[in-house]
Amino acid sequence: MNHDVIVLGAGLSGLAAARDLAAGGADVLVVEARDRVGGRVEQTALPDGRLVQLGGEVVGRAHTAYTALAAELGLTLVPSYVAEPGALVRATPEGISAGDPPHWFGPGDDACHAKVTAAFTALAGTVDPADPWSHPEATALDRLSVGDWLRSQGATQAVVRLWEIGQLALADGSCERTSLLAALRKHAAVPGTGHYEYDAWEGLRVAEGSATVALRMAESLGGRIRTGSPVEAVAVRPGHCSVRLAGGEMLTASAMVSALPVGPLRSVAVTGVSDERLASLHRQRHALAAKFTAAYDRPFWRDRGLSGLSECEGVLGSTWPQSQGILSALVPPERYGVLLGMPAPLRTAELLADVARLYGDQAHRPLATYLRLWGTDPWTQGYVTQWTPGDVMAVGPRHGTHEPPFYVCGSDQWVAGYMEGAVRTGRDAAEEALRRG
Ligand SMILES: Cc1cc2nc3c(=O)[nH]c(=O)nc-3n(C[C@H](O)[C@H](O)[C@H](O)COP(=O)(O)OP(=O)(O)OC[C@H]3O[C@@H](n4cnc5c(N)ncnc54)[C@H](O)[C@@H]3O)c2cc1C
Repeated sequence: MNHDVIVLGAGLSGLAAARDLAAGGADVLVVEARDRVGGRVEQTALPDGRLVQLGGEVVGRAHTAYTALAAELGLTLVPSYVAEPGALVRATPEGISAGDPPHWFGPGDDACHAKVTAAFTALAGTVDPADPWSHPEATALDRLSVGDWLRSQGATQAVVRLWEIGQLALADGSCERTSLLAALRKHAAVPGTGHYEYDAWEGLRVAEGSATVALRMAESLGGRIRTGSPVEAVAVRPGHCSVRLAGGEMLTASAMVSALPVGPLRSVAVTGVSDERLASLHRQRHALAAKFTAAYDRPFWRDRGLSGLSECEGVLGSTWPQSQGILSALVPPERYGVLLGMPAPLRTAELLADVARLYGDQAHRPLATYLRLWGTDPWTQGYVTQWTPGDVMAVGPRHGTHEPPFYVCGSDQWVAGYMEGAVRTGRDAAEEALRRG
């Protein structure tokens, strides 16, 4: 049977695209490798009914595509951990401090931090997030790492360390391996006065569970989704696209929307798409990260006046309270290899020891823990999009663009990944495909 559109991948982006295509009257089929929908959003329930988010979790007030979709699906947005009372903790090998300034700051570091943050914000104001390539200094800004730029602005070692711990807390790549142009572009997409304002990026969550967004969309698509169907090859011709699934089955459609992460997409044989389009997609990369979640009977960190939010230089890069005594944590790319090097039976105990250093011995007694190795999951091969110096120019202005009848979407096709990027690009791809008939 020939479909109007085949969508590759049932993550948030593929589902958002398919939902709009179906609403626009298209006969759409979604093919998904895993035996579940949602991709990088996934949840499980504790015996007491609390939901635990194993992947994407929070959004910000500036994430308008996602918040609009949640409203359409009848879901409720509530304040996230950002509204939690109590202090943020920073932990390094030589000390721990609650609140600002961090324990390694000395005289003058606060003023220096304020100065470089203001300079970064001002420079970001000169970058168009939709077209960073048009910046007169684009090549030079892309070649420079955030770390090198900070030092060129007179940032002290202590200030660079604060930026680095913040960057790794998000499980982004190190400041030393992040393109300044990419960082400026990300800031320009969600402007604020500080560098990565938590409220703008992470101040909200869906009360019914982040992965419920994907599940609701899948419900409305019903039998139009085929799970357990990895795509191995696609061939694109004007008005005729074909998809070969693992096992050899062939599917055909008039158009195709790829909603695959850039890592797994590299393993799909694609023909009929220009070399330039394909090279740009294949040039993108991911930060590899893992998410660790520990569920407790209560948020015991509050007893110490702490919010549960931390930035750390252990194997964990950060912790934050998910909700109702559930603590989330990320292992950033710089430490992912260290995690893999731990014998598997020791991992949970060693990660809980990191948590106990922050919040006390009760951390060793969770009701349940979950460790998701997203960086080495075959259907993700990463976590969020990562831009090393030189990557913005190398990927080029084809980033996020379509070559009808081959459309692309996915969080990787937005400035900085995120669920916002998935929903925004998914809906844009559907609109464009419907517009072209
Ligand atoms: C641990 C973690 C925490 C995160 N936290 C946040 C957060 O708090 N806030 C936020 O906004 N974002 C967060 N993100 C990022 C966010 O979850 C993702 O950017 C977003 O969900 C990606 O959606 P997507 O549809 O683009 O890709 P995906 O969700 O990766 O969907 C792609 C789909 O394609 C499928 N697929 C892959 N290969 C094939 C193939 N060959 N054939 C068929 N199907 C295939 C996959 O199985 C998957 O279902 C987080 C991500 C992770 C991993």
